[in-house]
Amino acid sequence: MTVNNPVRVFSIFMLLWLCLPHPTARAEDTPLNLLLVTLDGVRWQEVFGGVDLDLIEDKRYSKNPELLKKSYWHTQKTERRIRLFPFLWSTIATQGVLIGDRNQESFLEVGNLWWFSYPGYNEILTGQSDPAIVSNDRNWNANVTFLEILNGINGFNNRVMAFGSWDVFPYIINTQRSGLPVNAGLTTATPEATEQILRLNKASAYAPRLWPTVRLDFITHGYAMEALESQRPRVIYIAYGETDDFAHDGSYDRYIDAAHRTDRMLQDLWNWLQGDPFYRNQTVLIITTDHGRGNTPDGWPHHASARAMAKLDSQDGREGVPGSDQIWLAAIGPTIRSKGLIKGRWKQSQIAATALASLLLDPAKIMPEADQAMGRLLLH
Ligand SMILES: [Zn+2]
Repeated sequence: MTVNNPVRVFSIFMLLWLCLPHPTARAEDTPLNLLLVTLDGVRWQEVFGGVDLDLIEDKRYSKNPELLKKSYWHTQKTERRIRLFPFLWSTIATQGVLIGDRNQESFLEVGNLWWFSYPGYNEILTGQSDPAIVSNDRNWNANVTFLEILNGINGFNNRVMAFGSWDVFPYIINTQRSGLPVNAGLTTATPEATEQILRLNKASAYAPRLWPTVRLDFITHGYAMEALESQRPRVIYIAYGETDDFAHDGSYDRYIDAAHRTDRMLQDLWNWLQGDPFYRNQTVLIITTDHGRGNTPDGWPHHASARAMAKLDSQDGREGVPGSDQIWLAAIGPTIRSKGLIKGRWKQSQIAATALASLLLDPAKIMPEADQAMGRLLLH
């Protein structure tokens, strides 16, 4: 092709320049997006310390300790954790923030009285703990989540979606009231049946059903990725669930493998977001969990407060499961500091306002009842 028109040459140069990666972190005039991810019941001990040798060697929990060791063990903690969570420890630890390493004076705890899932997700999403939520039953949540609030704000309308492996999420997000699309549990149908969705529906029908209320995470992940590509939400919440169920099953091997797979899914999501012109450098990723787990080999499969155990009128374990209120959080994005581990003390109820503030919105104005944002994680 010969080009001798100077205007045309200039236009081609402009076009080429526009196609180059932008040198600044974020274009100020383009809106920010949010991806919130929860990994059900993943302990801070594994996030910051990698696999736990006591649990690997405990015959009650590990069927194949040699394979677990070969895949994830290393004598150095820093090497161990990167083997288990390569995305968290390569990308987020260097470009974002982490909190919850109790050995390094960084503390994040649930504020609710129960230390199990529904109260935890409610606390994350509404910015308050609700003492009235005392079970994981399918009850419509009386509290309003920040997802519902965002959906009512100009620019976010109809661009907020949620995907969960556990079938209680439509109740937690109260789809009846909020009208938010929540694809969770064994749900397969979605309104826009793209080819990829039809394939996922089929995969979902063929996948083993290990638990009555929780589907496998690759299905949740697949639907979420497809929604990102075809529906371009500005706010997306993905709740992975396998980790908690494998732990309740008493399988440390599977809990660890599930945690590792989820880290790969996070990498997959982040790579995709950074390769897409709409999301690249404009998207905040926040990762956290609904509760911890016991901090001893006996307690590890479980989680509940003493009050929850008493309420269940359990004969054993009335003291609750120590450690299961201890959680963690990781975040990365254009409004998040790149500081690695941050020392301090925070509550689960601060996550909602932090998410809103990361979008440069004022939580005090739009969600005044929520606990305050974790300001030290944010650049502004
Ligand atoms: Zn659980």
